[in-house]
Amino acid sequence: MESSQYDIVIIGGGILGLSTAMQLAARAPHWKVAVLEKEDELATHQTGHNSGVMHSGIYYRPGSHKARFCVAGLNNLVDFCNENEIEYEQCGKVIVAIEESELGRLKDLHERGAANGVPDLELVGPERLKEIEPHVAGIQALYAPHTGIVDFTKVAAAYANRFQQAGGDIFTGAPVQKITRSTGSVALETPKGTLQAKNLINCGGLHADRVAAMTGEDVPIRIIPFRGEYYTLRPESHHLVSGLIYPVPDPQFPFLGVHFTRNIKGHVEAGPNAVLALRREGYRKRDFNLSDNLGNLAYPGFWKMALKYWKIGLGEVYRSYNKRVFLRDLQRLLPEIQDSDLAGGGSGVRAQAVAKDGSLLDDFSIIQGNDAIHVLNAPSPGATSSLAIGEHIADLAIAAF
Ligand SMILES: Cc1cc2nc3c(=O)[nH]c(=O)nc-3n(C[C@H](O)[C@H](O)[C@H](O)COP(=O)(O)OP(=O)(O)OC[C@H]3O[C@@H](n4cnc5c(N)ncnc54)[C@H](O)[C@@H]3O)c2cc1C
Repeated sequence: MESSQYDIVIIGGGILGLSTAMQLAARAPHWKVAVLEKEDELATHQTGHNSGVMHSGIYYRPGSHKARFCVAGLNNLVDFCNENEIEYEQCGKVIVAIEESELGRLKDLHERGAANGVPDLELVGPERLKEIEPHVAGIQALYAPHTGIVDFTKVAAAYANRFQQAGGDIFTGAPVQKITRSTGSVALETPKGTLQAKNLINCGGLHADRVAAMTGEDVPIRIIPFRGEYYTLRPESHHLVSGLIYPVPDPQFPFLGVHFTRNIKGHVEAGPNAVLALRREGYRKRDFNLSDNLGNLAYPGFWKMALKYWKIGLGEVYRSYNKRVFLRDLQRLLPEIQDSDLAGGGSGVRAQAVAKDGSLLDDFSIIQGNDAIHVLNAPSPGATSSLAIGEHIADLAIAAF
């Protein structure tokens, strides 16, 4: 690796860095491109710790990046999986209204989805809902038949393969620790050596703000980690869930509420919640990092966020430590489910960008500097949208670099 020279170096070997790399290699084959990943393997953070849902694009504000990239991304992803023999299943999803007070929001979601171009959405009554999900209680539901499931780690691995076959270089175990600029070039220092690049693309996920700051960028956000914890349904209870079962989301909060997902490996998961993590890659409750937390406390946006969301936040922590409360929320959707149906599960940590005014950035945020592009906010449905986001970044790079 010593002192190699590249046209573009991409920092971060998650699904977005790898999609971008693959698409740059296909569309700009004259450029020499490398990916630097700090872990020994690719896609071990958000890409390897998510719900594995191929979203259809219902929730997002029409015209937003999320709406555009998710709808286009799902279509492209289905084609990509077919071409590359990656297993997926379009098992369908229901968003379920339990109470009259949720019907207005469900109707709004139906209109949003239709405006975003999500095909074949259907508002269904209790009888049709029972045919789709026999064990779910609800007075009405929004049915999205094309929502699906896939293993995003496999998708990311296929992007990496295609990139390497096209001549791209991937270096793992190579955290970028320092970035130095000189005219026409940036030097990226890693423990394995230094890469020189004309331009860089930052897909650093949970560390995207730090990577951007290393380039001298005045970063308008801070990444605050939110852990999502899951339970797993015991195999004998899998029959309770046919596809994907979601509540009507709380419009005050950017997360979707605890739900049931059948995943492509054959498990059924319940979750995730959304609790403030005390470490950026804090997958366990006890994980703590002093500098991550001091950084949060020194960031004015953190306090403003805390002031705005303290009630919801405390509720999430309470539910995280009380299986009974978690179960009660799950029983709203699936009354038959009992404590004995739930076993411990895994977790993931979301990289949520928080603005200086304390607001949680809702849309994807991709900003462009002189010789760099930074992905500063790419929460769910980032994995579903990965081909569309990578294409967008490749467009920006081809136009600017
Ligand atoms: C709990 C949870 C559930 C989700 N569910 C879904 C879902 O069902 N469907 C969906 O579409 N999306 C979902 N998402 C969102 C989706 O996982 C993300 O949008 C997507 O994985 C983002 O990919 P990424 O490449 O930006 O990030 P990551 O996968 O986190 O990759 C970033 C990479 O950068 C590397 N890195 C960081 N700093 C450095 C450095 N200094 N040097 C070198 N490398 C560095 C990291 O090690 C990491 O591998 C979910 C996310 C979570 C956390």
